Amino acid sequence: MEYSSGSVSYNLKMQLQREVPHLKSEIQTLYRRLDRQLGLHGASVPITFGFETDVLGSYTPAGNGKAEHFHFSLLYIGYLDMRQVRKHDKLDLYRHEYAHYMVSHMEIPQQYLWQPGKHGSAWKYCCSLIGANPTACFEKDKGLSKPDYRQALDNPWKNPDYSAVYALRQEKISQMEKNRQVHFHEGDIVVHPAFGEGKVEKTEQLAGDVRLHIRFPDGVRKIGQKWLIQHTDARFHRS
Ligand SMILES: [Zn+2]
Repeated sequence: MEYSSGSVSYNLKMQLQREVPHLKSEIQTLYRRLDRQLGLHGASVPITFGFETDVLGSYTPAGNGKAEHFHFSLLYIGYLDMRQVRKHDKLDLYRHEYAHYMVSHMEIPQQYLWQPGKHGSAWKYCCSLIGANPTACFEKDKGLSKPDYRQALDNPWKNPDYSAVYALRQEKISQMEKNRQVHFHEGDIVVHPAFGEGKVEKTEQLAGDVRLHIRFPDGVRKIGQKWLIQHTDARFHRS
């Protein structure tokens, strides 16, 4: 650990360092409570402290040669902190990091996997279970407000408006698929409201339709089968 960085004096650091045991027990008391609630073991994950000026806290999962640990900056959570992080914001910070721990140790329901990212919907879902604010950045007094989990967790693609658009699209696609399938065969007798009864002589596959060459009493006409599907009756359609 460095002895001095920036404006943080050696003395202040020494004083903050003395708070470590107390802070540790403050964090672990909370984590033990959350562990009991969730059946996890976050309270046994090592906690380290530093004097970062740009990061309040972090959770590092095991892997890439790193051991799993929580880390907090004493400059923010120490009682002598200069930035005056208040108790409720401190507790929210602890919960924030615990939610990161949860993402690594819990099964996240499928519906909360829609938004990627470290602070995506999986993490927000974990926040909602433990009352942490689902915001990535520290905001003063956030710890006092009631988080809006519904807004944070609602998948916009599940929104009724979107699903209606999606359903319409699917319907269009399946209609096109239907039109692409050959419903008539050579020799079939079909009825057209204007041209009367005719006999299918040839079927022709098009991109989104099937064109039929039909011999009517007055000659051969080429007609898309979808028009016939709409106008003919199954009784006249013999195969
Ligand atoms: Zn975070």
